[in-house]
Amino acid sequence: MNETRMLIGGQLVDAEGGASFDNVNPATEEVIGPVADGTRADMARAVGAAREAFDTTGWARDHEARKSGLLQLQAAIEAEQEELRAELIAEAGAPLLLTYGPQLDAPLREALTWPAEMIDAFPWRRALPVKNAFGTGDAEREVWKEPIGVVAVIVPWNFPMEILLNKLGPVLAMGNTCVVKPAPDTPHTAARLGRLVAEHTDIPPGVVNIVTAQDHEVGEVLSTSPAVDMVAFTGSTATGRRIMAAAAATVKPVFLELGGKSANIVLDDADLEATLAGAAGCCMHGGQGCAISTRLLVPRSRYEDAVELARASFENWAYGDPTDPSVLQGPQISARQRDRVLGYIDQGRAEGARVVVGGGRPDHLPRGYYVEPTLFADVDNTMTIAREEIFGPVLCIIGYEDDDDAVRIANDSSYGLSGTITSGDVERAKDVARKIRTGTLGLNGAIWYGPDAPFGGYKGSGIGRQCGIEGLEIFTETKTVGWPAAPTT
Ligand code: NAD
Repeated sequence: MNETRMLIGGQLVDAEGGASFDNVNPATEEVIGPVADGTRADMARAVGAAREAFDTTGWARDHEARKSGLLQLQAAIEAEQEELRAELIAEAGAPLLLTYGPQLDAPLREALTWPAEMIDAFPWRRALPVKNAFGTGDAEREVWKEPIGVVAVIVPWNFPMEILLNKLGPVLAMGNTCVVKPAPDTPHTAARLGRLVAEHTDIPPGVVNIVTAQDHEVGEVLSTSPAVDMVAFTGSTATGRRIMAAAAATVKPVFLELGGKSANIVLDDADLEATLAGAAGCCMHGGQGCAISTRLLVPRSRYEDAVELARASFENWAYGDPTDPSVLQGPQISARQRDRVLGYIDQGRAEGARVVVGGGRPDHLPRGYYVEPTLFADVDNTMTIAREEIFGPVLCIIGYEDDDDAVRIANDSSYGLSGTITSGDVERAKDVARKIRTGTLGLNGAIWYGPDAPFGGYKGSGIGRQCGIEGLEIFTETKTVGWPAAPTT
């Protein structure tokens, strides 16, 4: 059974007035079921509950309660892991195979447990020398790290559990309380999490609140409320800008994980055949991943070979029903997103790029919001399809002259989230990596992902880092305290 209620102040509740909206399966276009349609008043009540829990309970200082709360939640999720998997596939269109990895099982292994382990290891206090840098003063001095307070956690629909767990773990480990706002396209998995918190953990009422809502604007309460101390957001750059502007009125910090247009650079000494055998991998989950490399940069001298190798990869790529264990690409999340992707494909054609494979809706999948895996050649980095985040199964192949040119093209983007480099010489790949302005890079197929690995973007891809020590620190405030040094004898 899907959970339909929200979690506010420790209670599982319906929306004010009992309103609900339908959650739709993007692979079948069928209604999965209703879920509470929270209002601004519900959101304000959730903020009040989080504020009260932060200000009046010992949660912020009680390391043991936080550790056990996180581990209880982990165990509760694991007990319903298969139901959660089915729910995730149904509401996000996430391919089953991906739920065994980054969509569910991978974050579930560590996203809560690693922050729980780090509660004791975290440097909560740091002593400064009694004499300051000028050699004067005689105060004992310490820097204290403290929770930041009430954190708004606003998440998107593409990796709904992965992103939520990777925020919730650090937020709670660092002693904060929170209000979670899931995306309207993926409310049931978040609502289930709310029930698990309420029914299977000793996390105090109000520490975690989850408000589902169809209307994005309900989330604005979180950016504008003076009772919220920080907004932690993952989503589009356009929404990130709005949140940052709204948060400015109350001078609250914002932590933004935004879009990407990452480059996959294949250097001229790479094994082109082996590397491009996986070219269609960028269509994983319908290309609905912020860190996917969607610009393939290949040496101009080998351009046509690269196009043919990528073509073979795209033509062999399995996509369709996300419950089919052989596919890695399901539908786009909604008709709106599908049409947006198709609009970009039309624009690519209109601007002179060549469609090598795909380019439309698949005839054999009349139901569901599917888009064909689409490969574009003859792409110039100034074209719209090379500059804007399409969030669809679309790859652009761009030629470059030499390593410097590849670096220039990779950096010629308003984004800087991720990327990949392949070379016959890993030291050469590292040299290129040093010049790329981006938050994460995988060299020669290596995977950097993990709860201990900071993830986030340069430039328009965001502010701050999720995961790793940086992803714990971001949810803390810093207090410097001095007191008279004990007299020396
Ligand atoms: P979105 O920006 O439309 O929505 C994200 C969340 O913000 C949703 O919960 C939405 O309801 C909420 N929201 C929308 N307007 C709001 C407002 N004014 N105030 C408060 N909340 C508001 O993004 P999306 O379409 O759900 O997700 C896709 C985007 O997310 C892509 O751009 C993708 O690159 C990005 N993304 C980034 C990362 C990352 O870590 N950098 C990870 C995944 C997705």
